[in-house]
Amino acid sequence: MRAAPALRGVIAVALVTVCLMWGARPLVADGVEIPPHIDELTCKSFSASDRPSADWQHIDGAIADVVAAPRVSRAAAARARTALDRGAELLERAFGERAIAASRLSVCLVTERQSIAAAPGMNADPSVAGAAVTGARLAIVAVDTTSGDLDRIVLHEAAHLLASERARAEAERALPMWLSEGLAELAASEVMGTTDELHRAALKLKARQALPSLRELQTGLRVGASAPEIQQFYAASASATAYLVSTRGWNRIWEMLRITGKLPANLETEWLAHLDSIR
Ligand SMILES: [Zn+2]
Repeated sequence: MRAAPALRGVIAVALVTVCLMWGARPLVADGVEIPPHIDELTCKSFSASDRPSADWQHIDGAIADVVAAPRVSRAAAARARTALDRGAELLERAFGERAIAASRLSVCLVTERQSIAAAPGMNADPSVAGAAVTGARLAIVAVDTTSGDLDRIVLHEAAHLLASERARAEAERALPMWLSEGLAELAASEVMGTTDELHRAALKLKARQALPSLRELQTGLRVGASAPEIQQFYAASASATAYLVSTRGWNRIWEMLRITGKLPANLETEWLAHLDSIR
């Protein structure tokens, strides 16, 4: 569906989701101004330390193609493809057949995080290990991370691409940052069977009175947020989204976005009560 002219500006500034949680330091926020050519980024645009002319590996997967830079090991490329294939069913259930059919996704793998920051127009902090460039339908992930994290980051970024596609199809609007990060993290956690950990992490923050409220999540992260603030934002977003989806279902998210744009009135009370119930 094409965006109405008035909405194009909103979408234009939401083309890159730089995943802050993977970086240790505060970063440029989501929704940075994106130069027009970012739509034309390909995996080979991320070649600061990987020779652009050498052979890249292409591996076709069920929902995404893995495109790995020359110095990325075959094992890492195979691992990313396996994670995506393992997630295909859940991602289709979460984001719908149409989002998957609409966009053949590319997941680009590079050896180092600097390659992400150095790509034209990315404007990311050098510590960022993954980003989703929705305008170009590609995710970029650095493989200089532990194996379990590689699976999670690859799934998280692929989920961003699909969630963005679905949100635009449903409501011609970008998802708010907390819900975008929450859906991506929830989808990755469900595939990996670690969803309970999302709530346990939020409960720990609640015990320290460091769990952001839904209102704070909806306000978004302030520019220059500290590393703990970023982690708290992500943990609360993931847990609140997991609660919302587990009680209302994935489809309800899109309905909410399309019809009201508002969250259920009792969500915060219900969510906090749920956290207390898992003590
Ligand atoms: Zn993210």
